[in-house]
Order: sequence, then C-alpha cells, then structure tokens
Amino acid sequence: ERGRWDAMLYAGARDVAPATLFDKILSKEIPSEVVFEDALCLAFRDINPVAPAHILIIPKHRDGLTGLGAATAEHSAILGHLMVAAAAIAKQEGLSEFRLVTNNGEGAGQSVFHLHLHLIGGRPLEWPPG
Ligand code: C5P
Repeated sequence: ERGRWDAMLYAGARDVAPATLFDKILSKEIPSEVVFEDALCLAFRDINPVAPAHILIIPKHRDGLTGLGAATAEHSAILGHLMVAAAAIAKQEGLSEFRLVTNNGEGAGQSVFHLHLHLIGGRPLEWPPG
C-alpha cells in the first residue's frame, strides 16, 4: 500500500501516463545503488551496465516528462538541474571523459517512460553510437 501511494506521489499530480518502475526505485520499493541524491533528482547505477560506469539520473517528479520529447519551456529548470547533476556525478566518479545520453522513444532504445539521463564512462566510447 505504501509503495502504491509513494508511486502515485512521485509520478506527480499532473501525470496521466502510467507509473514506471522508476517510481518504485524512488520509493525504495525496488532497491538501487544510489550514487547521488538531492531534492530534485536521484542517480543510481544501471542494473545492466554497458560500461564500467553507467549511472541513471532521473527527476524525482516526472511532471509529464515521459521522455525528452515531452519537454516544454516549463521543464527548463529541471532539465538544467539534471545536466549539472550529471557533471557533479561524473566528477564524483572520477570520470573526466564520459557520455550523457537520453533515449526518446522505443525505436531509440527507450524502455522506461520516465525521463532519464544515462551517464556512461570508464572505457573508450565509440562514435557514432549504434
Ligand atoms: O533508455 P532506457 O529507457 O532503455 O533505459 C532504461 C534503463 O533502466 C536500462 O539501461 C536498464 O538497464 C535500466 N534498469 C535499471 N533497473 C531496473 C530496470 C531497468 O537500472 N530495475
């Protein structure tokens, strides 16, 4: 019950899209290895890392951001905050070289519809990505 309530809370009052498993990570119903947290965002290690460092950075309140494609000017502050958090986390992880990725849409590799940034590093990264 508590998990369901927390999930609704974290999904944000304006959200009509269904809750995702990130709501359960935010409510700690699903455990995760948190590397950074503040009032606005949570960063945790990806369960299926594609590089030695693979961290997901998510807004605590989805506020309509199912993906970056849903962003409007109202989201400018939180999007900027996530980018600045990414830089701080990279520094904390000792990464001077890294990549920050967000997948928008299934065809682009998105599987969880709660905006998230992938911070990837710790090995040489090829360009372009697949
Ligand atoms: O960009 P995409 O939506 O595919 O990213 C979702 C990410 O969430 C994946 O990299 C996946 O490994 C990760 N994940 C996780 N913990 C879960 C389920 C998925 O870290 N319990």
